[in-house]
This record gives sequence, structure tokens and C-alpha cells, in this order.
Amino acid sequence: MSATEQQIFDTDAKDYLPVFNRYRIVLDHGEGAYVWDITGKRYLDFLGGIAVNVLGHGYKPLVDAVARQAGKLIHVSNLYYTEPQASAAAKLVKLSGLDRAFFGNSGAEANEGAIKIARKYAHRTDPGKSEILTAWDSFHGRTLATLTATGQPKYHEGFGPLPAGFDYIHYNDIEELEAKISDKTAAVMLETIQGEGGVHTPKGDYLQNVRALCDRHHALLIFDEIQSGIGRSGAFFAYEKYGVKPDIVTLAKGLAGGVPIGAFVVTNEVARAFHAGDHGTTFGGNPLACAAANVVLDTVPNPAFLARVELLGMYFRKKLEGLQKKYREFLVDVRGTGLLLGAELASAQHGRDIVNACLAEGVIINCTAGKVLRFIPPLIITEAQIDEVIATLDKAIFNYAR
Ligand SMILES: *Cc1c(COP(=O)(O)O)cnc(C)c1O
Repeated sequence: MSATEQQIFDTDAKDYLPVFNRYRIVLDHGEGAYVWDITGKRYLDFLGGIAVNVLGHGYKPLVDAVARQAGKLIHVSNLYYTEPQASAAAKLVKLSGLDRAFFGNSGAEANEGAIKIARKYAHRTDPGKSEILTAWDSFHGRTLATLTATGQPKYHEGFGPLPAGFDYIHYNDIEELEAKISDKTAAVMLETIQGEGGVHTPKGDYLQNVRALCDRHHALLIFDEIQSGIGRSGAFFAYEKYGVKPDIVTLAKGLAGGVPIGAFVVTNEVARAFHAGDHGTTFGGNPLACAAANVVLDTVPNPAFLARVELLGMYFRKKLEGLQKKYREFLVDVRGTGLLLGAELASAQHGRDIVNACLAEGVIINCTAGKVLRFIPPLIITEAQIDEVIATLDKAIFNYAR
């Protein structure tokens, strides 16, 4: 006999580590951009498991590839070769314009690996060259190093001592970076587009200028594309849109369509810093996760697929701007690109209320950075579904904007 909704809430309250501020629904299954809870209520999912379910739920080729691979081999360790891993690495190398890929199991692990290889690379020329510069309001993960890289003090509280050698600059402020970067900087690590911190896009030539400063100080440029990558911006990597190539890019979230995975991809020059034994993982790059990644990597980079994401993003953004015109006092900004969009509320007072009001109407959205409604749906949504979300938002905002 399966548990009721209330039994699951009660068990979670009693038995699960209380670190999540959950919404009170128990999800059971999904199809395309929809998920259903265990009472049978349907939701239009414009969060996509936090930018993870890029091909939607129950996407047949992905489900089949995972089932087929699970029947053959789920895991063998990295002491042996597997075809899915080699194939996924080759695709990432080709798409990124970089040279070597490594697979882990999460975003934090991808960034942790990127930080490690950047330090090892810098130490070859100068053992004191170890500083990692990241941005305020960034999000890079929850391990101790990536937590420290995350420029949000609220996440640091109580976890000290934190690893040394991290410092912060304001995203989009090139003067501040110019003042802080030095020959002791091993790497500058930035989200190409800041997600968690409230959907902030690079302004003007910011990323070009960051690239130039890194080159001047022989610091590596790491782009964290864990949220902005895998087609979300309308380009496979958001950095392609801004015409700036990093030395290292990190990926996770959408890379295997929902199966846990992380990756960092580096140039040959950087790769030379690592030798056998310098880094590793038991699960990372296992054939199950890589079989799933291969489906994503065979689907999303398709020019027609990406063009569709770009068009849907423009359509959605226009509609959000329409809402902003209607509720000027309530919605103060609309930003983002592709299907990584944010609408900033005037105050944090109603963020969770709006999300809950949408949920009651069967629409899942998210609020980040206290007051930024964030839209990171599966990349396979339709214009009609965007219209539905806009109508639901309109109704929800109308109730609070009076
Ligand atoms: C989600 C996210 C991470 C962390 O990924 P996990 O898989 O939760 O460890 C890191 N960087 C960015 C930009 C993210 O959005």
C-alpha cells in the first residue's frame, strides 16, 4: 500500500534532515513539461527540476537509453573504459572548442575539480599563485571550496574555517576586477549568466574585458555554465553568445537530462597540470549517466533546437515585459536570455506568495535571491504553455498588487 500525502509530509518532518524549504506537494510522475502529484493534480513545470530536465519529463529516447544502459552496465569504475563515457567526452570537447573533459556527479564537484586543476596549473609557475576570484551573488555549490567560492555570506555562516585563497568582486564591475586581480590570481571563476543570484547577464564587453585581464595576469578564466549551459541561453554554451572562450567550463544540471552528472572541460594547456592520480571519482562518468548525457548531447546542440529555445525565450520575455508594464510598481525588472529569465519584484514580501499562488493554479515557478521570479523550464515547452504561465502570473500578481 502506498503512503498518503500526509504520511509523506509527516515522515519527512520526522526523518529527513530539515535543510529544504519544500512546497507541500508530493510529485509522482511526469510527461513533457507536466508533472503530476500523488493526488492526481497536474502542474505545468516551469522550474524543470532547477534547470535540469532540459528534455522534459519522460522523454522517450532518454528513458529508453537509460533503461537500455541499466540493463547492460550501470557502473564499472574508472579503472576501465566504457563507450558511453568516451562518446560523451568527445561530444563535449567538440561542442566547447576545448580539449579534455572529466565527469563527476554534480555541479559542486565539477567546480571543485575546476578549482583544483586551476590551482595545480598556477602552482607550476609560482607556488604562491593560488587566489581564486569569484563574484558576489554567485552560486558555485555546497562543498567547502565551492561554498567559499559562492559569494553569498549567508551560505558561509557557521562553516568556518573556510578554505583560504578566495576573494570576491562585483559581477559586471570591470574596474573592481582590474584593481583586485594580480599575478597571484590563479583563476577568475564566473557564472556566464548568474542564475541563483537573481538572473544577471553580462553587460557590454564585460566578459571580453575579464578575458583580457585574465590573460594579462596569466590567470585562468573559468565559466560556471552549470545553469546557463546545455542550450538554456539559446546557444549550447552561453559564452558562445558573448564571444568569449574560457580556459575551463563547468557543466552539470541539464547535462544528462536529470540523471546526476557534472563535468569540467579544459584546454590541453590546462590539462597538462594533471597527471594520473591527481584527481578521481568512483561514480563520475559512469555508463548510466553518460548514456543519458549522450541523448542530451545528440539533441540539444541541434541548430533547430537551439533556435527554438532562442525564439521561445524572446516570446516569453516580451510577455513578461508586458506584465511589467501592467504592474510597474510591483514588477521592477525583467532580464535574462533564452529560457533563463527573471522578473524582479519590488520587494521580497510577496515572492513566496506568488510562487504559492501559481502552485495552487497548477503552475510551478521559482523565486530566487528573495525577490526574483525565475523561469528555467524544460527547453521543450510551447508558446501556449508560456501563455498559460503568463495568465497565471497575471492573476497571482493582480491579487497582491492591489
Ligand atoms: C546548481 C549550481 C551549482 C551546484 O550544482 P549542484 O549539482 O547542486 O552541486 C553550481 N553552479 C551553478 C551556477 C549552479 O546553478
